[in-house]
Amino acid sequence: MARVTSSDAPGPAALAALRPRLPSPLEETVDARFERHGVRLLLKRDDLVHPELVGNKWRKLAPNLAAARGRTVVTFGGAYSNHLRATAAAGRLLGLPTVGVVRGEELAGRPLNPSLARCAADGMRLHFVQRSVYRRTTEPDTLAAVLRAADAEDAYVVPEGGSNAAAVRGCVDLGGELTGAADVAAVACGTGGTLAGLAAGLAGSARVLGIPVLKGGFLGARIRALQTEAFGGPRGDWSLDERFHCGGYARVPAHLEAFTADFEQRHGVPVERVYVAKLLHALVTLAGEGAFPRGSTVAAVVTGRPFP
Ligand SMILES: *Cc1c(COP(=O)(O)O)cnc(C)c1O
Repeated sequence: MARVTSSDAPGPAALAALRPRLPSPLEETVDARFERHGVRLLLKRDDLVHPELVGNKWRKLAPNLAAARGRTVVTFGGAYSNHLRATAAAGRLLGLPTVGVVRGEELAGRPLNPSLARCAADGMRLHFVQRSVYRRTTEPDTLAAVLRAADAEDAYVVPEGGSNAAAVRGCVDLGGELTGAADVAAVACGTGGTLAGLAAGLAGSARVLGIPVLKGGFLGARIRALQTEAFGGPRGDWSLDERFHCGGYARVPAHLEAFTADFEQRHGVPVERVYVAKLLHALVTLAGEGAFPRGSTVAAVVTGRPFP
């Protein structure tokens, strides 16, 4: 396997050479569905941070890529994972070998879907595992066995969705960039790492509202654990509204698709379906319910961009 020596390791300079657009733009958006309730809507355009390390994936991956110090980076995801694609792109851009452990052994014998094909084209070595095994890669023994089978034993491991303490700390600046600009900062949540860092960065100066895109009700405990890992304890003023997952991960029912296409038309902003669409739909619903006081400003974090 090709190895990069530590002298080639991408440090802060190599990451800076990729010219991320930070702080990301913050755009005022005029939308009658907020205006009629006296609420201002801002879009925090993290989708514009970098063309390939899109959105929150830049903030979460950058500290991990630095910590990998040139070692192979191995990470985990489903067949359509935004995180796998971002990691593969980072590998290509920085000259780091990457391995993607993909949930679903049955996928191994089939043509790659467009997302996995992009990963492979960016040089990521894909290793497919059974769903039952994948679920247990949080256990040290199973993880070690999977890494051995993937020929990635010495690799730097980034967990599924990229959320570890380094990633959470990488999202603190997102909160810093929004401090003083909004009363509520809202973000869609998968693993919750982005919210964990965002809330810490805002340090109680704004309320943080998380919209989980998965069913389950387990995320609050997970975010508290991530904040404890990253900062030593809970941080910021945050809560979750679990009503807007639309049936589960990557489910886009017709009403959500219609809402999203309409939002794109009204505002000329491309809307990623798995996360960002559910966030915007939640915010419009909440505004209609009078959940935001008159005179308040809500900042929606646009964490990604549609693929392809
Ligand atoms: C990965 C991703 C998220 C979820 O981030 P977490 O830190 O896992 O909660 C949100 N939005 C988009 C577009 C993503 O790609």
